[in-house]
Amino acid sequence: MSEAVSERAFRGQVTLDGPSGTGKSSVARAVAARLGAAYLDTGAMYRAATVAVLDAGVDPEDGEAVARVVAGARIEVGTDAGTERVAVDGTDVAERIRGAEVTRTVSAVSAVPAVRRRLVDQQRGLVAAADAVVVEGRDIGTVVLPDATVKVYLTAAPEARAQRRAAQLGLTTPGEIAELAADLRRRDEYDSSRADSPLRPAADAVVVDSTDLGREQVVDRVVELARSAVEVRS
Ligand code: C5P
Repeated sequence: MSEAVSERAFRGQVTLDGPSGTGKSSVARAVAARLGAAYLDTGAMYRAATVAVLDAGVDPEDGEAVARVVAGARIEVGTDAGTERVAVDGTDVAERIRGAEVTRTVSAVSAVPAVRRRLVDQQRGLVAAADAVVVEGRDIGTVVLPDATVKVYLTAAPEARAQRRAAQLGLTTPGEIAELAADLRRRDEYDSSRADSPLRPAADAVVVDSTDLGREQVVDRVVELARSAVEVRS
């Protein structure tokens, strides 16, 4: 059987967790394309919920108000690796969710347990509808899909993460990069120390450090893990 055929024979779930700036999203999309799998970006869902909270004008630190707003919002995400579709109450927010205001506020919104319950239910429904899926986030291997076929935790040195994010955003001055590094640290700390579903590797996750690896090397490694899981099971 050729490599492409056996890759595409993958059935199951690949979870990709880790902090931001590790190249997680582009790796997850590329792995999904190689495996012919669906792709779910759970961070986009928390970001969309944050748009609803900002538009409602409630205090993002007021958990009850945040939970109420998110309970009443219709959040839609696509599961195609080739296109990004994210909408709140029928309005396309794909660009807005990447903006600075949402990035600043999303950790507070995603720390609210009722928000997590609501979005985790929706994530499990979307996963159940796919034969093969790559799901990226912070708590996918630990909480959302504890029985996933393959679990990967992607990490990288803080400086490498800040540099990578800066390149994505087109930032070049030392001041801008330092600000970005501080923002990454702040979000990591918030995400890792929250009581509900903190960011951490699942006990059975394979930890991949991407500090000195190119994107293609990381993609190859994850595809290889997915392929061997299929071989072991079949
Ligand atoms: O992955 P991304 O940077 O878009 O995620 C944005 C934020 O959403 C994270 O900093 C985190 O606060 C939250 N998040 C989460 N659980 C997930 C995915 C994202 O709490 N599964």
